[in-house]
Amino acid sequence: MSTIFSQIVEGEIPARVVYEDETTMAFLDANPLAPGHTLVIPKDEYERLNDIPDDVATDLYATIHRLIPAVEESVDADASTVAFNNGEEAGQEVPHVHCHIVPRFEGDGGGPIHAIAGDRPELADDELDDIAADIESRA
Ligand code: 5GP
Repeated sequence: MSTIFSQIVEGEIPARVVYEDETTMAFLDANPLAPGHTLVIPKDEYERLNDIPDDVATDLYATIHRLIPAVEESVDADASTVAFNNGEEAGQEVPHVHCHIVPRFEGDGGGPIHAIAGDRPELADDELDDIAADIESRA
């Protein structure tokens, strides 16, 4: 069973497509958080960013890079929040990687990315050192 976004890629369900190339596509979000709210996807189905091969990741970022100014300028936005919900526990509902470009306006009442987190952890310096070393060893 293909994802709803694969069905958009295949033209099986309609969408307001604003950009398309061989490997990526961008279209307006059906339930926008702001005018111009755009989703950028790889055409092939990958559930999480972690699953995307390097070449597709490069293509995906190139499309995001291209669409950010296009989206902002089209709705005369002051800024934009650009984000992925990467995994169900992070709020991802459609299991097909998608980048949200949400235009932002002065005084729009929205928050920063920092607003997504719950209670902030208290981490001692040695814990931070261990985490940093562990990430570095895997990167
Ligand atoms: P998520 O929570 O997975 O990061 O975001 C999924 C997004 O996809 C939501 O913002 C939702 O409004 C959007 N969406 C869900 N179904 C459709 C659809 O059929 N067409 C379009 N254009 N957007 C959709």
